Amino acid sequence: MKGPIIREIDTSNVIVKSNLPVCDYSANPYTGCTHGCMYCYASFMKRFTGHTEPWGEFLDVKHWNPIKHPERYSGKEIFIGSVTDPYNPEEECFERTRTLLEELRGSGARISIATKSDLVLRDIEMIKEFPEARVSWSINTLDESFRSDMDKAVSIERRLESMRIFHESGIRTTCFISPIFPGITDAKAIILRTKDISNLIWLENLNLRGSFRTSVMRYIREKRPELVPLYEDIYSHGSKSYWIDLDSELRAFAAELGLDYVTNDDSMKRPFDAPPIIVNYFYHEMIKKNARRDGHA
Ligand code: SF4
Repeated sequence: MKGPIIREIDTSNVIVKSNLPVCDYSANPYTGCTHGCMYCYASFMKRFTGHTEPWGEFLDVKHWNPIKHPERYSGKEIFIGSVTDPYNPEEECFERTRTLLEELRGSGARISIATKSDLVLRDIEMIKEFPEARVSWSINTLDESFRSDMDKAVSIERRLESMRIFHESGIRTTCFISPIFPGITDAKAIILRTKDISNLIWLENLNLRGSFRTSVMRYIREKRPELVPLYEDIYSHGSKSYWIDLDSELRAFAAELGLDYVTNDDSMKRPFDAPPIIVNYFYHEMIKKNARRDGHA
């Protein structure tokens, strides 16, 4: 099988100011992502980088000028992998994410890392040195066959195992249940598998606004035809009732488990050993409005 098209490119700076509410800066050591998820929201970046190859089949490896005065990031949160996975398989040889961590080491920066890989285990000792570091893994199914239909990243079991190792090492972990595929993602089962090895469980709905809508709908028609009416209801007719019902169901489930269920993340303020907090980020503004109407926090 043909591998991805890899280019090494020069860039002046890998860390940029971020507009995201969860961080001050973001850093993406790669453009493109060879995990090639069918539903990847980052695939839009093809348009801005001049790539014509299919998503998942190219990777630009960034080389930047060494970070000057890394201490200026002291106390700031840097989100590594805000757009694409910093631990794609090619990181094993190019080590750009590792280089970034080495350059930031001792700066006092707080880092969060998002991945679908267990290659991050390679850097665990260095990550441990950062204040308030946290690592998140995306897990939207426990079914390996659905997983392999969706992405080329490592198995769910390998993600869970790396989450366990990080958590047992005292590093905060997040289970990012995203994107939730209506009728397919069993969020309750994932919560049960991760509640003892995570500090934060984040829920996010599948949205089909991107160019991947056609591929996802084709997949549903071919593999899960019984779900076509539900997907059309949500994604063609704009119905939100599936998410509102799931929100209520998961809120009740969290209560049964004794877990907090909120629409804002305050997990960093909690003791490390506290049970994870569940954050609902479904169409977040709409759900918050409904929650306020229903008297929830
Ligand atoms: S791992 Fe993330 S960035 Fe990479 S293809 Fe999948 S969704 Fe996109």
